[in-house]
Amino acid sequence: MLEGKVALITGAGRGIGREIALTFAGYGADVIVNYNGSAQKAAEVVAEIESMGRRAAAVQCSVEDYEACGKMISDMIAMFGHIDILVNNAGITKDNLMIKMPEADFDAVIATNLKGTFNTIKHMYRPFLKQRSGRIINLSSVSGVLGNAGQANYAASKAGVIGLTKSMAKELASRNITVNALAPGYIETDMTEAMSGAAKEAILAQIPLKRAGSTKDIAEAAAFLASDKASYITGQVISVDGGMAI
Ligand code: NDP
Repeated sequence: MLEGKVALITGAGRGIGREIALTFAGYGADVIVNYNGSAQKAAEVVAEIESMGRRAAAVQCSVEDYEACGKMISDMIAMFGHIDILVNNAGITKDNLMIKMPEADFDAVIATNLKGTFNTIKHMYRPFLKQRSGRIINLSSVSGVLGNAGQANYAASKAGVIGLTKSMAKELASRNITVNALAPGYIETDMTEAMSGAAKEAILAQIPLKRAGSTKDIAEAAAFLASDKASYITGQVISVDGGMAI
């Protein structure tokens, strides 16, 4: 499904990003595994992809750093020849009710989740235009779709990702570049592991399908959007949330 494609996935050393990287490789893609702090885990993902017969490279870069994103992208295009798929997966939470939320925690979440998504798209813009093809998949969240008490910073960043996605889709459609967002619900990763037992129970009660999602649920949706099967889909926010946003 993704043979001959090269995918850059941010935050691919662990969690949803790792699963997207392995799933894409399983469908035939070569994969650039971006990480920020998880060097060892990123190296393990690269080794696993290479054992599947695909090319892979781990590259350290904080998506918050505009210049570093530019260098990562130009270095990786030099190494792989081209990049066909960009998955903006890197993300953080710093949850708190607004009354207790430090300004720094608002800024940090926006800087990674929203500005980080801008930073990579900005540097992929010209290469995609020149190729006259490309796929951009941005990780939003059910919190960005519905809002969530205790997540004003995170929900604002993820709603911002939706606005960015739709605007980019309109700008790039005439060049055969599609831009879509995935809005996961409650997926079992380190991010949700950090929640209290009571908070997890409260969320599970809101899921019509009555179970948490897996990283595979997100990775398969990402693979579909990255593939030629989704060539007529752009500017969409696909909820993969067990029905939470109904
Ligand atoms: P995890 O907390 O498990 O992993 C976060 C990932 O983001 C890590 O790979 C981390 O890299 C990377 N990352 C964080 N900051 C940076 C940075 N500055 N530069 C580069 N990479 C960075 O999160 P999930 O896998 O659960 O989430 C992945 C995405 O899905 C996020 O955007 C999240 O908001 C979204 N999402 C997740 C949901 C869930 O229920 N889990 C629900 C809705 C959306 P490293 O370890 O190398 O620092």
